[in-house]
Amino acid sequence: MRFYNTLTRREEQFVPLRGRQVRMYTCGLTVYAYGHIGNFRTFVCLDVLRRALKYLEGYDVRQVMNYTDVDDRTIVESSKAGLPLHEYTNRYISAFQEDAVRLGLEPVEETPRATDEANLRAMTGMIEALEKNGHTYRSEGSIYFKISTMPHYGQLARLDHEGIKPGARVDADRYDKEDVRDFVLWKATQPGEPTWDFGVGPGRPGWHIECSAMALRLLDGPPIDIHAGGVDLVFPHHENEIAQSEGATGTQFSRFWFHVEHLLLGEGGKMSKSLGNVFTVRDVLEKGFRASALRYVLLSVHYRKQLKFTWDSLSQADEALTRLMDCLVRLDTVPQSGVETTVIEKVEVARREFSEMIKADLNTPGALGVMFEFVRMVNAAIDAGEISSFDVTLVRETFEYFDEVLGVIRIRRAEDAVPPVPVEEIEKLIGDRKAARGNRDFTKADRIRDELAERGIVLEDGPAGTRWKRK
Ligand code: AMP
Ligand code: ZN
Repeated sequence: MRFYNTLTRREEQFVPLRGRQVRMYTCGLTVYAYGHIGNFRTFVCLDVLRRALKYLEGYDVRQVMNYTDVDDRTIVESSKAGLPLHEYTNRYISAFQEDAVRLGLEPVEETPRATDEANLRAMTGMIEALEKNGHTYRSEGSIYFKISTMPHYGQLARLDHEGIKPGARVDADRYDKEDVRDFVLWKATQPGEPTWDFGVGPGRPGWHIECSAMALRLLDGPPIDIHAGGVDLVFPHHENEIAQSEGATGTQFSRFWFHVEHLLLGEGGKMSKSLGNVFTVRDVLEKGFRASALRYVLLSVHYRKQLKFTWDSLSQADEALTRLMDCLVRLDTVPQSGVETTVIEKVEVARREFSEMIKADLNTPGALGVMFEFVRMVNAAIDAGEISSFDVTLVRETFEYFDEVLGVIRIRRAEDAVPPVPVEEIEKLIGDRKAARGNRDFTKADRIRDELAERGIVLEDGPAGTRWKRK
């Protein structure tokens, strides 16, 4: 498969370094708040990358996605909330896990927390190696990375070395390209901040060292195959991760760098907490939308383009998914037959086109297009009675094949399995409605139907009786 490598600014053929195993690191959520739908755009795209490597390429994927559970933001917010850091971040880790399940993120192999002792020790070890290799200096109890000791500092972000101010340093985790400076590896203990001492003095890690150390510890040393995150991480986070890892090991850190563009609000605005226009997965669900529709929207634009989010796009996604699920339901109604058809050829074409789309720099909108073209073909074949029982099996398998990568049908099914009205109640009401119709009390029958519709359940009368589905 081919994808764009930020390091070389080119689309490249991807092959793992060590046999069939792909070792991939994903910068996870900073657990100081609920993840917003922009964060989840990145996580959903990376989930599709993972699935494509596993299911289309057949690789054995070993993926690490961390929780940033100590940094400037988690410390500030936990202290505002008056809670110990761990108690505060635990809450957002659990929330992330719930959202991840709703959005169909496949569990990854390792989900380390930066504050795990083994990770803090790995960070300390890396800082000691950097000190030994002459890449650091100390000032007032903190340890800084001296960027002038790395001639290729700036290779990932393509920094202009002219603007770099030698000797100036920055303590904050996040800063702009205009402020390229020596950055902090280990921060001296501050009043009210957590502190650890595993060998480089009391303090706490800077954000960047966390990821470098966890990646190399859990992915069996450099170079790893893929390092991924949203575009905002290119600088300074990933640039600094490269400097730290390569300064400590003398070897390339990651062969491929994969970055997902931002989700913006449709009105052109950036989502930001200070503007009060941040939407979480919970906000989307509270407005009555389904996680499956959100996942669909997040995949409907190529990952290297900005995605302008609108509520309308969620409604359209929902309609598209209803069409897809209706097609699957219709397959159950195809009568047993062995008629000769051309469906098998169309199945082969669709599978090939789908796989080509995904393997060409993860073209998810193209892959969704192939799937919906397939839905149209299947509906037309059912309408024309040109589909055999054998075809039905093939068509079902093909939808499963698409969904191993896209992961929308499976979450839609899971949502359908927990309808907004309990199944027993729906079934009882269907029985009441049938009885009312039997008594020619059509007013009551219609009222039952309308009340269920208001609660999100649609009834459909067919030859085999009444079926229900979610609106
Ligand atoms: P953070 O919690 O800020 O560390 O971010 C978690 C992940 O979400 C990182 O990979 C970020 O690059 C990514 N991210 C942050 N904001 C957005 C956005 N608006 N659109 C897409 N990805 C984002
Ligand atoms: Zn990171």
